Amino acid sequence: RRYACTSGTVSLPTYFAMARGGGDAPAMEMTKWFDTNYHYVVPEFEAEMQFALRSRKPVDEFLEAQALDTPTRPVLLGPVSFVLLGKISEDGPTQAQIVEAILPLYAEILSQLRAAGAEWVQIDEPCLVLDLDTQAQALYRSAYAQFKTNAALPKLMLTSYFGELGANLNLALELGTAGLHVDLVRAPQQFSSVLAALPKSMVLSLGVVDGRNIWRTDLQAAQPLVAQAVQALGKDRVEIAPSCSLLHSPHDLDQETKLDAELRSWLAFGKQKLEEIVLLARSVEDANAVADAIISSHACVQARATSKRTQNDVVQQRLRSVCAEMLTRQSAYPGRRLQQAALGLPQFPTTTIGSFPQTAEVRSQRAAHRAGKIDTASYEKFLHEEMERAIRVQEEIGLDVLVHGEFERNDMVEYFGEQLAGFLFTQNGWVQSYGSRCVKPPVIYGDVARLQPMTVRWSQAAQALTQQPVKGMLTGPVTILQWSFVRDDQPRSVTCQQIALAIRDEVRDLEAAGIRIIQIDEPALREGLPLRRADWREYLQWSVDAFRLAASGVQDATQIHTHMCYAEFNDIMDAIIRMDADVISMECSRSRMELLHAFQRTQYPNAIGPGVYDIHSPRIPSVAEMEALLQKALQVLTPEQVWVNPDCGLKTRAWPEVRQALEHLVAAARQMRARMEATVA
Ligand code: GLN
Ligand code: ZN
Repeated sequence: RRYACTSGTVSLPTYFAMARGGGDAPAMEMTKWFDTNYHYVVPEFEAEMQFALRSRKPVDEFLEAQALDTPTRPVLLGPVSFVLLGKISEDGPTQAQIVEAILPLYAEILSQLRAAGAEWVQIDEPCLVLDLDTQAQALYRSAYAQFKTNAALPKLMLTSYFGELGANLNLALELGTAGLHVDLVRAPQQFSSVLAALPKSMVLSLGVVDGRNIWRTDLQAAQPLVAQAVQALGKDRVEIAPSCSLLHSPHDLDQETKLDAELRSWLAFGKQKLEEIVLLARSVEDANAVADAIISSHACVQARATSKRTQNDVVQQRLRSVCAEMLTRQSAYPGRRLQQAALGLPQFPTTTIGSFPQTAEVRSQRAAHRAGKIDTASYEKFLHEEMERAIRVQEEIGLDVLVHGEFERNDMVEYFGEQLAGFLFTQNGWVQSYGSRCVKPPVIYGDVARLQPMTVRWSQAAQALTQQPVKGMLTGPVTILQWSFVRDDQPRSVTCQQIALAIRDEVRDLEAAGIRIIQIDEPALREGLPLRRADWREYLQWSVDAFRLAASGVQDATQIHTHMCYAEFNDIMDAIIRMDADVISMECSRSRMELLHAFQRTQYPNAIGPGVYDIHSPRIPSVAEMEALLQKALQVLTPEQVWVNPDCGLKTRAWPEVRQALEHLVAAARQMRARMEATVA
């Protein structure tokens, strides 16, 4: 209804309006797909919604491939996951009603596909790897019961990924589809139970090639699984596949011309993963023909496991020396509160999250430098000028804690990865993040070590320009881990601890260089949460420990900030408290009410800046609006706790709007101070 698209085929302009907003209609919400950095547009369900098949996209694409003599297996998101991942308005229908209403449409599109010649259709039900309550289980049963009895449908390959079916295994098998796909990379332990329980009628698809990472598969380790399945089920009932969609993996390793031969021999991107799958399949028919390829794949994986380049004895030794004291500040928070006065900060201190506008000029200078068109000296001179301009603007606006602006950073993870040992970078290793936006995650292949200070000279130069305190800016260990391709030969927690030690050294060097406030960003802490609740505790233990390891090497007088945004925080509030940052700035525009609710239950003990400026919108909030938000925060926080800041970094905005919004922000903080003085008087 919101996009006024009431009949006919859904047009391209309508799709754009739904994804990006159109006219007065705001865009639909976007959320991360399970534990990936890929975002999907969240389906919305509302009262009296009419469902109709308004697109033939899957059929058209099937026919298009067929016309090129390429038989394909169409992929649809299954009806139950579609509904479980959607958002229902308050007066909207129940999940069961929606499933009931959309099933005829699924039947329709499935029979169209069958009529077009598709023998099989892959139907993704990724929610099968989550904890499902009885209601969700019932949705599955009723939906698939209808498919089972419909003879006009193609065969369905029920597809799960990113985890273990676990307690949902029997449910998945009961659904009566012609095939089942399981992820044996994330959850190899389910292999034997799936094999044992599989009904005679079902085909099993073995997800043995990692679709989520860039490592070459050890075919010699995967081959016995294939052989065992073939022996148990017969070769007509076994398929070989990547663990999940290759959407999450870069396209083609052959495009990487700058990697040395050794590193390259460890990797496989999408195209190479397909070749691995084909090799495994051929091993069933003719083991001899592929024996050499299988042996050499194993040799490459072995070579990586034993390569000197993945190991750094100094790092290993340091890991062993990590102890509880290293995770703890000298004094508990109340003892550190004197920072505020020592730093000369007023009540309701004002600051920003770190980045200032990455203008077209900043980006073109960076590109020119990368391409070798300008030399490093002139590029850095340009960056210094930008930084000085940002400092002057912040002084004019009257902010209390300044930032240097992050102009030298292309990306908050890549910037650090490029300076750390153990990382490699690709030229074309892009993966889709949302819409037409892609990211190029660095690859962590070896022990992580800091070779030299990474940010100190920038922070120091910025501090030299002003009397106000300038905040040092670092990306936290969990976020660096989360936004990289991570090595699979040791637990993520160990890699994270190595990164934490590198950041810890940087924190101490900043302190030694006279930087008195240091922010360690952790916007990705939440998205690393495991898919099953039972695994949360362990993750939150090591991830928060990693943050504490990075942050705790300083004197009490040094103020540690952290920042988080665009996630649900309420259910990890205890972990956030355990991070023990002196100040946390949090995005609040989308979840303000809930955040405050969380504080009603658990009193947040340290200082906190709930964001008062939504940086995703060009709209400039008024002083009164920001003040009202701060007043609201005072319902659950004391005036001593509250900082005043935007929701997130300002890099995507333009200077004129940033300047005006920050002027309002400073004015709002001043009003708050005046109000407090008035109440005291
Ligand atoms: N310091 C970073 C910035 O200001 C934080 C970005 C983020 O939260 N993703 O851009
Ligand atoms: Zn942010």
